[in-house]
Amino acid sequence: MTSSTPAVFLKPGKDKPVRQRHPWIFSGAIARVEGAPAAGEVVEVRARDGRWLARAEYNPRSQIRARAFCWDEHAVVDEAFWRERLQAAIVRRDAVLPGVEARRLVFAESDGLPGLIVDQYGHHLVAQFLTAGAEARKGMTVRHLVELLHPTSIIERDDPMRRKEGLPPAGGALYGHPPGEPLVITENDHKFLVDLRTGQKTGFYLDQAANRAALAAHCAGKEVLNAFSYTGAFAVYALAAGAIHVINLDASRDALALADANLRLNGFSPDRWRNVEADVFKQLRLWRDEGRGFDLIILDPPKFATSRGNLQRAARGYKDINWLAMRLLRPGGLLATFSCSGLVSEDLFQKILFGAALDAGRDARIIGHFHQGPDHPVLLTFPESAYLKGFLLHLA
Ligand code: SAH
Repeated sequence: MTSSTPAVFLKPGKDKPVRQRHPWIFSGAIARVEGAPAAGEVVEVRARDGRWLARAEYNPRSQIRARAFCWDEHAVVDEAFWRERLQAAIVRRDAVLPGVEARRLVFAESDGLPGLIVDQYGHHLVAQFLTAGAEARKGMTVRHLVELLHPTSIIERDDPMRRKEGLPPAGGALYGHPPGEPLVITENDHKFLVDLRTGQKTGFYLDQAANRAALAAHCAGKEVLNAFSYTGAFAVYALAAGAIHVINLDASRDALALADANLRLNGFSPDRWRNVEADVFKQLRLWRDEGRGFDLIILDPPKFATSRGNLQRAARGYKDINWLAMRLLRPGGLLATFSCSGLVSEDLFQKILFGAALDAGRDARIIGHFHQGPDHPVLLTFPESAYLKGFLLHLA
């Protein structure tokens, strides 16, 4: 490489993760930076003795100071390089989820594209640019997506993670004409309204698609509580699979308005479901005090652990809702419980459930495991990309 390419030199003993192709290089691992790279600029990563390790995108404002994306010293990182990365990600989705209308096309580091999320909703794409490097390549990425997929529109959505990277709020149309109304998508033969402009995340929780289908097999004849329901996706699957009754419980009025529309859109009679707008922690306590019972409870809360600093608090939150849900389940009841906190490992989550079951005085058995779907692949060199885990518990 030419001497003008900026470079970060790692501290002694800090090069092993990079050699093992872990993409994150924290500020504490860096001894010095040569060439004053700007936010989002591509840098060489070198060991203390100058040995070449990887190419990374640099961000002086992030704790993750550099994100490595290329371990081939001879690769030329130009427009064609990034276009090939995008194309490869799309080809992988066509292989695992062919013809699926709503799916994640690009899952950031897991696809060798740090900070870039691209979700497909039929002819529309929703993108998030979560790092300085992704932000710097936004124009090029939009151009490549248009060439590769010919979408009707590309919409950008903001995310709190941009603030951790020192990026301003973002959002709006990047290309074409986004739908002015919520869009109808089909997932496993069920119809869902998705608001690409104002819905949570990119509009829909695509990572749960396979889990919704798997759980449907357990719903026939059951009275179901869908807690943290968002727009009622689990409820639609449950009712289609023969659940007697489903309650959607969520704090968001907008989400429940779409849940209402989704249940009608799929043709379920209104006496089979009810939407309750309330805080889950409070509502479960109320129902416990009333002696309410359910046959199946779904707990799919938002990410409680947003940093290492609040991991303890998050663990208490998970334990609390699971303990309450266990108290509300009838004998033989099922609990489908999830955590999408990357910082809460599957092992830790299982321990939290163990504590909750002990305190609830319930005998619980794991009869199923859930993970994020195949369009959110976990890169083996980057275990942090495994964030969604869940258990199906049978309560004696
Ligand atoms: N299971 C859903 C996704 C759930 S996302 C699906 O398959 O689509 C998490 C949801 O929890 C969001 O809709 C959010 O509004 C809701 N939420 C967050 N905190 C809450 C609380 N304390 N009480 C009730 N709902 C809450």
